[in-house]
Amino acid sequence: MNRSFSTDALVLSSRIIGEDNRIISFLSPERGVFDAVLYGGRKSKLRSMVSPFHSGKGWFYNDETRHSIKITDFEATNFRPSLRENLYKTCAASFASELVIKTHGGTETEELSQLWILVNGFLDGLELSSDEDARLGTLRFLWRYLSLLGVQPDSTECAVCGRQFLKSDDVFLHKNNDNMLEYYDEARHGFLCHECAAGQQNLYPLTEEGMQYLAALSLLSPSEVRKLPVHADTYQKMHDLLYTLIVSETGVKFRTLDAGEGIL
Ligand SMILES: [Zn+2]
Repeated sequence: MNRSFSTDALVLSSRIIGEDNRIISFLSPERGVFDAVLYGGRKSKLRSMVSPFHSGKGWFYNDETRHSIKITDFEATNFRPSLRENLYKTCAASFASELVIKTHGGTETEELSQLWILVNGFLDGLELSSDEDARLGTLRFLWRYLSLLGVQPDSTECAVCGRQFLKSDDVFLHKNNDNMLEYYDEARHGFLCHECAAGQQNLYPLTEEGMQYLAALSLLSPSEVRKLPVHADTYQKMHDLLYTLIVSETGVKFRTLDAGEGIL
């Protein structure tokens, strides 16, 4: 039985236990989410390496009699310093970490590598983004996370009449009617075009631009999506819908969402 192991790992969170020890939650592309103990005291260099949002390679010892995993070494190769310096980025990265810790992003083996790529890609994007781009990046992350969980609603067509929301000509000519609204219908777990939504209750409005953006996220490449315009009203409506969806679909009460209220 091999009780020592090493793996690529991302530090999701760190919390102090006892006098000077920490429990670290990691994400690994092979093992998913797991906790390991960082014993305090002498090794301050190791402690600074094992900080939230750092990723690199970790060495661990699985102590089966104590049912705990101990961190023996960690070599961080990606530090992402702006995630600790910018308030919005700190809140968004902390929320993403809590989301991963509490939902595990699907637990099938093939999903772990997708989860690894999605989360690290999101944090790398945050690190390099302006504040405004970081906010839009968080919405793209939430939308893709819903897909990983298998609960992303179909954004490509109206759930009632089947009308396609994304016509490629519209997107590339930036042709859409900003005054026109489409809607998310929680009861149908799908989107409705403005005609099918007429007279219905309890729908979440989305601008046509926002509807095209979500459809584009499912149909176009990331570089094509980043070229699409997103006006303030579209951002706000997508924001409200996506945070509502992530909470209702996971059934989780997120501490970091309460802490980041007014910032996220
Ligand atoms: Zn329709």
